[in-house]
Amino acid sequence: MEHVSNCEVCGNAIFTPELAKDHFIIVKCLKCGLEFVNPRLTMFENRDFYEDSSVSYGRYLDRETFDTQIQKAVVKGILRYKQCGRFLDVGCAIGNRLQVAKDYFEIYGVEIAEWAAKYASERLGIEIWQNPIEELWLPSNFFDVITFSEVIEHLHSPAAFLREIHRILSVGGIVYLTTGNTLSLDALYWKEKWYYYAPQYHLFYFNHRNMKLLLSKTEFEILESRGSIRVLDMFDIFSAYPDIFRFLRGVVGKFSWRGFTVANMGVIARKL
Ligand SMILES: [Zn+2]
Repeated sequence: MEHVSNCEVCGNAIFTPELAKDHFIIVKCLKCGLEFVNPRLTMFENRDFYEDSSVSYGRYLDRETFDTQIQKAVVKGILRYKQCGRFLDVGCAIGNRLQVAKDYFEIYGVEIAEWAAKYASERLGIEIWQNPIEELWLPSNFFDVITFSEVIEHLHSPAAFLREIHRILSVGGIVYLTTGNTLSLDALYWKEKWYYYAPQYHLFYFNHRNMKLLLSKTEFEILESRGSIRVLDMFDIFSAYPDIFRFLRGVVGKFSWRGFTVANMGVIARKL
C-alpha cells in the first residue's frame, strides 16, 4: 500500500475521509473536491487485477452492436473538431470505437488486456500496443486525436498521463475522455453504493470543475464537457447493485436487460 500526500489536481495536502468501501478509504480534497483512494494499492499490487481482466472484457462482446452505436455518436462529436489524421484510442478494448473511426482516420490502439488486444488486432488488421502509453516511446506531435474512455480513474498519476498525451498530440489536436462524475445524480443518490466507487482499481473520482483544472494545468482547453451515457449490463448491475438486480430479475425474468447511467462525464479538449 502507498500513501498519497498531495492532491493530484491542485497540490493541496488537506483531505477529509469521504467514505469507506471494500476495505479502502476514499478521501476528498478540501480545495478542489477531487476524491481519491488513500492509502491505495501500489502499481505492482494492482497488476493482478489487470492480468485477470479478460474476464470483464469478455462482456464487451455481448454488447458489441449496442456499444458501436454509442461509438458512432462519440466519433461524430470528434469530427466536429477534427476530420482526418491519426487517431489513437487508449484502452481500446475490443476496438469498437476504432472500427467506427477508421472510416475517417488512420487508426492506432493501446490495450493492456491481452485477450482484448488480440481480438481488436485481428478484427481491425492493425497492431494493438499492449504497454502503458508512457512505455511506448511514441514520437512527439504525432497524433491528431487521442481518446481514452474509463481509463484516467485507473491510473496512479492522471497528470503524468495527460502530460504524455499532450506531448504525443499535435498542436491543436483533440482529446476525448470519459470518467465518473462525483456530482452526477447517480453518484449523489447512491453515495458509497455508487457502482463507480471501486477503490481497488478506480483510484480517482472527478467532477467537471476539477477535471477542467487538471486539463488546464496540463495545457488543454476544454471545448465540451457534458454527461456521458454508459451502458450497464446485467454484470454491472449485479456487481454494483445486487438488490436492484434481484428486483429486476423478478420483473424481467430470463430476458436480457440493459440500462443506462449518466453518472459519467464526457469531455472534448484541445491541446494548446
Ligand atoms: Zn485538490
